[in-house]
Amino acid sequence: MNAADNPLLDFAGLPRFDLIAPGHVTPAIETLLAEARATVERVATSAAPPDWDGVAAPIAAALDRLDRAWTAVRHMNAVVSSPALREAYNGNLPKVTAFYADLGQDERLYAKYKAIAAGAAFASLDAAQRKVVDNELRDFRLGGAELPPDRKARFKAVQEELASLSAKFDDNVLDATNAWAHCVDDEAALAGIPADVIAQARADAEADGRPGFKLSLRAPCYLPVMQYADDRALRALMHRAYSTLASDQGADPAYDNTAMIERILALRAEEAELLGYANFAEVSLVPKMARSPSEVLSFVRDLARRARPFAERDYAEVTAFARDELGIADPQAWDLPYASEKLRQRRYAFSDQEVKRYFREDRVLAGLFRLVETIYGVAIAGSQAPVWHPDVRFYDIRDRDGGLVGQFYLDLYAREGKQSGAWMDDAVNRRREGERIRIPVAFLTCNFSPPTVADGRRRPALFTHREVVTLFHEFGHGLHLLLTRVDVPGVSGIQGVEWDAVELPSQIMENWCWEWDVLQSMTAHVDTGEPLPRALFDRMRAAKNFQSGLATLRQIEFALFDMLLHTEYVPGRPGPHPDARAVLDAARREVAVVPRPAYDRFMHAFGHVFAGGYAAGYYSYKWAEVLSADAYSLFEEVGVLSPAAGARFRDEVLARGGSRPALDSFVAFRGRQPQIDALLRHNGMTTSS
Ligand SMILES: [Zn+2]
Repeated sequence: MNAADNPLLDFAGLPRFDLIAPGHVTPAIETLLAEARATVERVATSAAPPDWDGVAAPIAAALDRLDRAWTAVRHMNAVVSSPALREAYNGNLPKVTAFYADLGQDERLYAKYKAIAAGAAFASLDAAQRKVVDNELRDFRLGGAELPPDRKARFKAVQEELASLSAKFDDNVLDATNAWAHCVDDEAALAGIPADVIAQARADAEADGRPGFKLSLRAPCYLPVMQYADDRALRALMHRAYSTLASDQGADPAYDNTAMIERILALRAEEAELLGYANFAEVSLVPKMARSPSEVLSFVRDLARRARPFAERDYAEVTAFARDELGIADPQAWDLPYASEKLRQRRYAFSDQEVKRYFREDRVLAGLFRLVETIYGVAIAGSQAPVWHPDVRFYDIRDRDGGLVGQFYLDLYAREGKQSGAWMDDAVNRRREGERIRIPVAFLTCNFSPPTVADGRRRPALFTHREVVTLFHEFGHGLHLLLTRVDVPGVSGIQGVEWDAVELPSQIMENWCWEWDVLQSMTAHVDTGEPLPRALFDRMRAAKNFQSGLATLRQIEFALFDMLLHTEYVPGRPGPHPDARAVLDAARREVAVVPRPAYDRFMHAFGHVFAGGYAAGYYSYKWAEVLSADAYSLFEEVGVLSPAAGARFRDEVLARGGSRPALDSFVAFRGRQPQIDALLRHNGMTTSS
């Protein structure tokens, strides 16, 4: 099997998206897995004294080929899925996962890395290589590689049970969501809800072969109902159903996650104990930027204290508005999104649709590229590559001297067979290959509206401002990958960057979407060609921080609950909390401003913490926002389009990737430790404003 038979095995250039077919997947992945296993065996059983070139380099090279092929398959399955491709992907996923699980627990390799770290030659490795070795040792240790055999077996059993419980937790939430529906016969009962949501509800009822309208708890239905439905009883009914999903208060006890939550927490505590840590939060923080649970708790509580007066003001305003203007004498949780939307419209008097007419795709892209070219001293130009869909474009990024530094695919429009949302993924990572440097390549994927054809004329795609912010955000992740100067796999680009710092390069880009100097030149009304009027921009800016106090405190409530859960509570042990719900109550008592109904069981659907990667890590969102806001404040000080500040951000943050701690990179850029002031100011949470 070689590149002539199978395009997934062609590593000479960019992925052959024009040739790859579902039938290529299994033979290619099996070939590459066998190749990677053979390399691992050869390295693990080698009698030669372990060193970088004999251990880290060959393993990285074998994994690189597997990763590149698997990434191409995963990407195509996400953006041009078909039943055959999905089957090929799902069929190979367990094999790839099992390979990496075995690799992480290979004691022979762990011993080799320990020998490299202890050897005399370690000091002569460069900083990035030493970081890779340190990361490997850490990951083997957290994978249980150091435990005696009996504990190792128990550790593996704990890991396996946790993995299946997490999947079951998610399944319960999904099944409970799918099992619930509310049917309405009379359209008058849906007054206030946007027409497209009503049309979908009608189509959903039709699909069931019945008249009327079918409402569900999925976001595209639930959120607009809560925001727009004039019928208060309908909002109350939907709110209760949503807030009790997969709980003891839910519609079907078969989906109750209560016991699952307690079991997951018990297993996490056991895992921490086996590894020799005081609690699971300590384990979670080992590879993160935050140093200890107490540092995170102080951060979260400090932000809560600062946000509280603004949240109280937001809450007082919206409840007064509900009473005085909407005639809701006793506003409840199910009235708040509705009253908030009415208040927002009253106060700022513009619609997203009005703003959208100024953001033409061609202008937005030109503005984004001009910004990046100005501050980072690069040039972006259209280029050619095999693609998976005719709408996909491909670009080169060159340095001032004309040297190619990176390339990216841009796939902007929503279409059938494409996963929703927006994301950046690495197609190719930068690395040294002998004498040459392989340059990085990024996938930038969005789901925006495509261009339309009206009266035989093609009109450019129009973006909402929220979509423009999303595009800038993902492009920031892309720059982290593309502008790296690290050549060592594992720490180049976004690889090896701490979980709680990885949003710094993306979130900082969002700030430029709120700058008049940037927006003015990247907008043109679709009919008149006029740039965005200053008065409309000012209203957009004014509305930016509407209820930011309440939004901050809600995130803080989740983050505090998550940290308390993984530091103060072990099921079945004496402690301050009898069960997980009591921990949530304690977090709410401490920080919440909005009272929740007694039935509220939000915790039972909190997949981030019980099924995703955010256990003792939910604080990361706000943590990275402190970094990005504070980093941006340097641009505000010296000029938001300053090439000097841009060069420094590129040199000290983007170029470094995971080759040194994120805090070191931040301090090298900002000249000091991070401060919270800029975040508060950007969110309108300062007393002077
Ligand atoms: Zn992001």
